[in-house]
Amino acid sequence: MATIQWFPGHMTKARRQIEDKLKLIDIVIELLDARIPLSSRNPMIGEITKGKPRLVLLNKADLADPARTAEWVSYFARVEGLDALPLDAVSGNQVKEIVPRAKKLWAHKIEAMLRKGVTPRAVRALIVGIPNVGKSTLTNTLAGRKIAATGDRPGVTKGQQWIKVGSGEMDLLDTPGILWPKFEDQQVGLRLAATGAIKEDILSLDEIAFFTVRYLCEEYPDALKERYDLERLPDDLTEASEVVDVMEAIGRKRGAVMSGGRIDLDKTSLLILRDLRAGKMGRITLERPPAETAEAE
Ligand code: GDP
Repeated sequence: MATIQWFPGHMTKARRQIEDKLKLIDIVIELLDARIPLSSRNPMIGEITKGKPRLVLLNKADLADPARTAEWVSYFARVEGLDALPLDAVSGNQVKEIVPRAKKLWAHKIEAMLRKGVTPRAVRALIVGIPNVGKSTLTNTLAGRKIAATGDRPGVTKGQQWIKVGSGEMDLLDTPGILWPKFEDQQVGLRLAATGAIKEDILSLDEIAFFTVRYLCEEYPDALKERYDLERLPDDLTEASEVVDVMEAIGRKRGAVMSGGRIDLDKTSLLILRDLRAGKMGRITLERPPAETAEAE
């Protein structure tokens, strides 16, 4: 998966491409990563999609903590008034729910058409999301086949294609809208890097693993202990050295040891992140809904 360096020119281009597609559609399907819903979102989404009705999909829910995912669904409903559906684009779990939810967002238009004696047409939808969130996977799952990425390569027909979904109730644009993540916030960057949404080279590997291990010690201590056969974790994580001790203990258990017996922290960091991304520590969510802390900020 290619990483995109989002300098302002790219953002302007991405935005313009979405604006062109918006003219063709009724509703926006905003794809987020269930493990980091707000960090995997472009915070300007409402503005960019010009207030079109929006369905939120929390993808990769198979990797996320189900209890946290339920909290996120409730957050989106309560705080943003948005319907959020957790799903798994690879296995297709809950993907069948998309069409009824999409139709609900458009129900008033369908009713208006019926009142005028017009046969309602399919609801037209566009998937948008940051790179790696699962847009192509979901498009293929919805289409029931592999959709070739035509997109914006020179020499390739630029015309948009519609994919028929369900029993002709939804038409989906075949090329999703690519949004850029918000890099400026350090915590957001770390969450994106930990889940693999952005390449490690933006932040250093041990920095990402450090963040991950500290978070796991706080939120998922048992999962961490079990995965790496650790007897105990430090009580006080305010000292960076305590977190590094945990990383070293993991490295030792896993044989990430250099000549002279020192722990290879780079190797250790990589194996921790690989385990996290593959779900080897269980289902883990790296971000809590802000509701509880919103007032304090
Ligand atoms: P895009 O850049 O948004 O089009 O993302 P892709 O569709 O290429 O997906 C990026 C990676 O995430 C791929 O390795 C997919 O297999 C993986 N992926 C997508 N959806 C899911 C999901 O629901 N669960 C899991 N575990 N992996 C997923």
